[in-house]
Amino acid sequence: MKLTSDWHIHTPHSCDCGLGLKAGVQMSTLVEQAGRKGISDLGITDHVHTGYNLDDIFRAKKEFDTLPFAPRFHFGVEASCVSQWELAEIESGNQLAKTSGLREGGPPGAPLAIAITEEDLREYGIEYVIGSVHWPMYIPFEREAIIADYHRQNLFLAQHPLVDIVGHPWFWEGHWRDEDGKYRNEPWIDDFGKIPLSLHDEFAAALTENDTAVEINSLTCLFNHRYPDEFTVQYVDYLAYLHERGVKFAIGSDTHGPEYNNGYAAAEPLLESIGLSDDALWRLPAREEVGKTE
Ligand SMILES: [Zn+2]
Ligand SMILES: [Zn+2]
Repeated sequence: MKLTSDWHIHTPHSCDCGLGLKAGVQMSTLVEQAGRKGISDLGITDHVHTGYNLDDIFRAKKEFDTLPFAPRFHFGVEASCVSQWELAEIESGNQLAKTSGLREGGPPGAPLAIAITEEDLREYGIEYVIGSVHWPMYIPFEREAIIADYHRQNLFLAQHPLVDIVGHPWFWEGHWRDEDGKYRNEPWIDDFGKIPLSLHDEFAAALTENDTAVEINSLTCLFNHRYPDEFTVQYVDYLAYLHERGVKFAIGSDTHGPEYNNGYAAAEPLLESIGLSDDALWRLPAREEVGKTE
């Protein structure tokens, strides 16, 4: 099986891609490199944590629009799950909250949100939204609490009317990082089986009921170089479990440049082994050129 789409590509405009910017990487270079790797359908998705990131999206769209029209090249965003509390703090002028929101001090169980609206989608010409969990929401760093909180966020995203794809479920970073930069411990990197199957059932139901796809993220989940190899084995079992429950998958690399890279060669046999085929994956229809006359 050959994978031919990538819906999760960051450009130098993304708030976490300063390296790419310094290296002077162009969006067109990433697209060319993806094309050389056999990717025919793709989209760029820079981060929107808070409303401040809409400036990044504006700049990314400006560059996107300068490229020659390609019907299978799309413009999306990756919106983080945040809380209504932190968005209200930003609204009230809290300067600390700017690009990543407020990661501490909020009420546990805070109502959730994404910092993007239907109006933003129209204004910035955003064709699709990946909604991703990136951090815990004001709870103690304890395995059970984090599992319950990430599940709550995943469900929120699966049910959100603007979210097309739930990005990298159960990606973890930040706490419990060993000195060599690797993760081997809680909350589930040591044993993915610590997440109860009932949560996967509930997540799968939310996805299928809302016609939301779930992402197979090659570089941050399937083959995260900071996770042990055993994690990959367990994660493939998890994908198989979701597959049996009829969820729709989208594939994305989460490449952050400066070179386009996707890890697909290693992913292809694993996905094939659980019965996934490239043509069953989520795909946006080809775009039509605005103002084009036949
Ligand atoms: Zn992400
Ligand atoms: Zn990403």
